[in-house]
Amino acid sequence: MKCMQKKIPIGILGATGMVGQKYVQLLENHPWFEVVYVAASPQSAGKKYKDALKNGWIVGRNILESVADLTVEDVSNVKKAAKKCVFVFSAFEMPEKDLIRTYENDYAAAGMPVFSNASAHRDTENVPMLIAEINPHHLDIIPAQQKANEWEKGFIVVKPNCSLQSYLTPIHALIAAGYPVEKLIITTMQAVSGAGYPGVASWDVIDNVVPFISGEEEKTENEPLKILGDAKGGKFVSFKELTISSHCNRVAVSDGHLACVNMLFGKNKPTREKILEIWKNFKGEPQKLDLPFAPKQPIHYRDEPDRPQPKKDRDADKGMAVTVGRLREDSIFDFKFVSLSHNIIRGAAGGGILNAELAFKKGFLKQGV
Ligand code: NAP
Repeated sequence: MKCMQKKIPIGILGATGMVGQKYVQLLENHPWFEVVYVAASPQSAGKKYKDALKNGWIVGRNILESVADLTVEDVSNVKKAAKKCVFVFSAFEMPEKDLIRTYENDYAAAGMPVFSNASAHRDTENVPMLIAEINPHHLDIIPAQQKANEWEKGFIVVKPNCSLQSYLTPIHALIAAGYPVEKLIITTMQAVSGAGYPGVASWDVIDNVVPFISGEEEKTENEPLKILGDAKGGKFVSFKELTISSHCNRVAVSDGHLACVNMLFGKNKPTREKILEIWKNFKGEPQKLDLPFAPKQPIHYRDEPDRPQPKKDRDADKGMAVTVGRLREDSIFDFKFVSLSHNIIRGAAGGGILNAELAFKKGFLKQGV
């Protein structure tokens, strides 16, 4: 990793929450970006960061010293952020999605690119929904997005739902290698941290599985189609060749979303050996560009019959790699497998940082506050 002489000053919106804290933690010693600004709700505004954490520091270790004493600003104070930040990571929650969308637009209009974890802009026709190894070319829509909104330097890039990070990269690798997947049945087992803090009540999840997560099955079935799709005339066009059916369950695991996947190929069906070879050799643009947060190998395959497991595999390559196992023939579809990724790292803050690194390396971030 090469260090730049002067790091890019950045802000975190929703810095006191589960994902926001993870951003703070992961950005410690980042070679390119430096956290200089933190924002949250009006209740936290005006307090020192360390005093604004209602539930304390929940992501382990100690709070980064340089951030602990920063004054938390109100997310609505866009002008103040514009004086200090080149871009922001957005991880704030609000009951009204429209309001999140409006604030993110305000940041972009004020000249700050927004890398968002919220779902508010995922359906916006000219906003890329990025998994850096799968659709890096979707960043090319940014000039059209800026033109349509009359934004000069600002733009918005979003991350997809955390549950689909584990299986979509393996599926994309197969499609890209010339083996189109036509149908998927996906059953997820999602960690409690996916619901923020305190999230699901312990009484509801210990000794239990909750077979419903509001809105999650719709996201699992629809978001991959935008990610695998194309851009035409400044708008994204959904990938029509794939149909997904899903079940999403909340399970008593702290971190790490697991998915059991059954897949049916179209005309061209690979052998098991071929699938393993494709996964082993798969590399995306983050690996080619050697981005600081890129896992060396995006897909790890485990041969043991009882892997992947959240406890043992979620931290693969600092939580940025996907772990896959149990690839076998399926008696109804063609093959089935199990996949896993860290929902707070790969699925949230780490994935957001990788997206920003990619945008920076590809020249979309113009420095200067
Ligand atoms: P969280 O722990 O509940 O944190 C929510 C954050 O939003 C806090 O910083 C909170 O500030 C802030 N906030 C609440 N009300 C606000 C208001 N009226 N104005 C401004 N800020 C406000 O939630 P989270 O799990 O970190 O999730 C944050 C976002 O990331 C959500 O959009 C979520 O869907 C998305 N996401 C989460 C995951 C995951 O695995 N957890 C994965 C991917 C994406 P205060 O502390 O001041 O209340």
